[in-house]
Amino acid sequence: MSFAEFALIDRIRARSKGRDDIVLGIGDDAALLQPLAGHWLAVTADTLNSGVHFPPETMPADIGWKTLAVNLSDLAAMGATPAWGTLALSLPEASEEWIDAFADGFFALADAHEWRLIGGDTTRGALSLSVTAFGQVPHGQALRRDGAQVGDDIWVSGTLGDAAAALHLWQRGALNIATAAVPGDDEMLRQRLLRPTPRVALGLRLRAFAHAAVDISDGLLADLGHITTRSGVGAVVDADALPLSPGLRARFGRDAARACALRGGDDYELCFTAAANQRDALHAVAASLRLPLTRIGRIVQGHAVQCEGEAGPGGYQHFA
Ligand code: ADP
Ligand code: MG
Repeated sequence: MSFAEFALIDRIRARSKGRDDIVLGIGDDAALLQPLAGHWLAVTADTLNSGVHFPPETMPADIGWKTLAVNLSDLAAMGATPAWGTLALSLPEASEEWIDAFADGFFALADAHEWRLIGGDTTRGALSLSVTAFGQVPHGQALRRDGAQVGDDIWVSGTLGDAAAALHLWQRGALNIATAAVPGDDEMLRQRLLRPTPRVALGLRLRAFAHAAVDISDGLLADLGHITTRSGVGAVVDADALPLSPGLRARFGRDAARACALRGGDDYELCFTAAANQRDALHAVAASLRLPLTRIGRIVQGHAVQCEGEAGPGGYQHFA
């Protein structure tokens, strides 16, 4: 490793904070951690490659935020409290300016969740960011994909399709990604793509209610399909019930907005199932978190994820 790379590590280390459960953080051959008694460790890794997972011109602070957000979203979907993690960075050149801007976004989110960076790796190569994140969850309380039961309601948090809509606009040359803000409704869509909010507080509350949960990174139908496959059940989604933001509907119209919500990715909302007798409790959770929770369908016998309502030709579609 060259001197330039050590200088970058020093800049990252200067931004990372301690925690009582970190025996030894950045700077040795490995970090030493003291996990909570009576808890499981939840461990997840996600990589973002330039040009594949984000537009190449994305600003470094936005890349920093999203690199961590996608990992915290996975911990949220497990009902785990974010704790620590590592960052593997591959950079085309050793730019301190780039690292400082990246760290602005990365540590803004890390600090908000008291998630601490405890190590990593820094190499020269095509721009790629990889986080391994650890969280903690009390024994037996993790939210898994394999617990959905026939008769459960299917719920989602927030609104769906906004990030996919922003990506479509960018692909058409109609949205600037490399700027601080754009005028009008498009800024809301853009923020949903660039700065997704991992639903950590919701994940913790859902430990008491959900039978199964997944975060929506690849599109609602695809990710709900992970729950049905792992649980050995089917699902029926009501297209008329999908939570669509007013900005998305205004920009794309109802049908295209629904398509974004059903198949678009990058929402990082949670999709979960719960018994029908938990509806009032879940509405109370929504109110206390000030986060909409919407019932969009039900778990049924079978294997397929089906979509009812005016979602497409014939108003009824099947997805394998
Ligand atoms: P080693 O050669 O023993 O793997 P390095 O010289 O690669 O160690 O790294 C020195 C220290 O800096 C280690 O504690 C490592 O975890 C940390 N580190 C390296 N790169 C990063 C990074 N991108 N983010 C956080 N910590 C890092
Ligand atoms: Mg070593």
